[in-house]
Amino acid sequence: SKKALIIGAGIAGIATAIRLAVKGYDVEVFEANSYPGGKLTSIAQNGYRFDAGPSLFTMPQYVDELFKLAGKNPRDYFNYQRLDVVCRYFYEDGTKLTAYADEQKLADEITAKTGEPAKAMQQFADNSRSIYNITNHVFLERSLHRVATYLRWDTLKSIFSLLRIDAMRTMHKANQSFFKDKHMVQYFDRYATYNGSNPYQAPATLNVIPHLEQHYGAWFPEGGMQAITDSLVKLAEVTGVKFHYNSPVQEIVIEDKKIKGLKVKDTILAADIVVSNMDVWFTYHKLLSNYPELKPEKILQQERSSSALIFYWGIKKQFKQLDLHNIFFSADYEAEFGHIWQDKNISDDPTIYLNISSKCKPDDAPAGHENWFVMINVPNNTGQDWDLLITQARENIRKKLFRILGEDVKQLITSESILDPRSIEGKTSSYQGSLYGNSSNTQFAAFLRHANRSAKIKNLYFCGGSVHPGGGIPLALLSAKIVGDWV
Ligand code: FAD
Repeated sequence: SKKALIIGAGIAGIATAIRLAVKGYDVEVFEANSYPGGKLTSIAQNGYRFDAGPSLFTMPQYVDELFKLAGKNPRDYFNYQRLDVVCRYFYEDGTKLTAYADEQKLADEITAKTGEPAKAMQQFADNSRSIYNITNHVFLERSLHRVATYLRWDTLKSIFSLLRIDAMRTMHKANQSFFKDKHMVQYFDRYATYNGSNPYQAPATLNVIPHLEQHYGAWFPEGGMQAITDSLVKLAEVTGVKFHYNSPVQEIVIEDKKIKGLKVKDTILAADIVVSNMDVWFTYHKLLSNYPELKPEKILQQERSSSALIFYWGIKKQFKQLDLHNIFFSADYEAEFGHIWQDKNISDDPTIYLNISSKCKPDDAPAGHENWFVMINVPNNTGQDWDLLITQARENIRKKLFRILGEDVKQLITSESILDPRSIEGKTSSYQGSLYGNSSNTQFAAFLRHANRSAKIKNLYFCGGSVHPGGGIPLALLSAKIVGDWV
């Protein structure tokens, strides 16, 4: 059988491996780290367990699909629960809002807390769904770089509907037209950060994102986010995929514009096809540095998505008013994004995302304790003084939580680890520590992501959050689907 070599065991690399093995390829995956999952991994700390990266699980059907494809029952490997409370929101003016999964309950809560009528929510939801129905065919589930995509009737229909995807105004402007209440504008503006973008710049097309969360649901995997990685690695192994850890790929070897193989541990391994799950920027700069003529400059020079600063805190107390997902909004959202995108630093009043997986999985923390994943959005790494920024951010987060929860967390922290743009880049080879590849801050971003196949080198493919269709677990899994369908 034909040999497929995959660079990286991120979630997209694992999914691609499964798809190619099912197609009859002999598949081997080379991973630089000693563990699989890339960003989707966990850390152990003093009796606490934390999911290190992604914490919000949406579109679980894309994970299930892989088990079904391999002829297995997903429930034998992987289970998840739908969340009744998607998120709790806390505003600086004292407003508190609970986002229920149930649409009626959510609309009632929003009317009660902000005065926005149910009609406004309905109109927003209708718009969000209609953007999804148009874009999923063109931008998400297929390659934009393949003629066959354009020969399909549903694609053509979508292209003719492009005016209806609201790409000509910013997300923030659109949200102001749907809602009078500033809490609701901020609530929906935040979805731009789901792919590391800025709502004051990104096209209103990104208003598709709330539809994914509200309609398809927010879920919690039994075993935490780590279970997604673990169950897919198990499935890959069952389908015959071989994983090699501690095995950084040094070079993609090309001969006569065709893939020859990979160089690993100074040895050249022959391959019929190669798939890179490494960030596309580093794939060209590190693995293809002998072939500068191949470099797609325009794509590689696009602005990257934002990064994150995360404190993993063991907390010796339980907070009844908190849930799995919690947001503490900044008082001035526009100023906060100005810090991230223009000044490339961190606001003194950052929006805090607090994830507490022990709410759903109690053994993630000792009895009576909680595991706090405290994340703020930060600019990507362009050489800032991160040690200083981190010290300031810790203090500002503490003050903000004190203002809103009335509790000094400093007294409650039993242990701490930190992930910042430097370590995100170091651990997963993500250029500048960006979380989601390129940003979506222009209408053209969707067209300026790298294709899933090289136009110049035969049998070289790309998957993962830095290429089409984009970052986040669902899209990374779709990139694997596009590669699997294309080979
Ligand atoms: P990665 O996870 O980046 O994996 C790439 C792998 O390739 C790594 O294991 C790396 O070691 C390996 N590699 C790189 N170079 C080489 C080489 N030369 N040789 C061998 N191996 C190599 N998404 C969501 O859906 N929901 C969320 O809530 C969410 N929150 C996030 C929070 C944080 C803090 C972060 C960091 C990300 C978050 N994301 C979230 C995004 C999501 O994690 C990513 O989009 C997704 O995991 C990307 O998967 P990937 O397969 O592209 O690659």
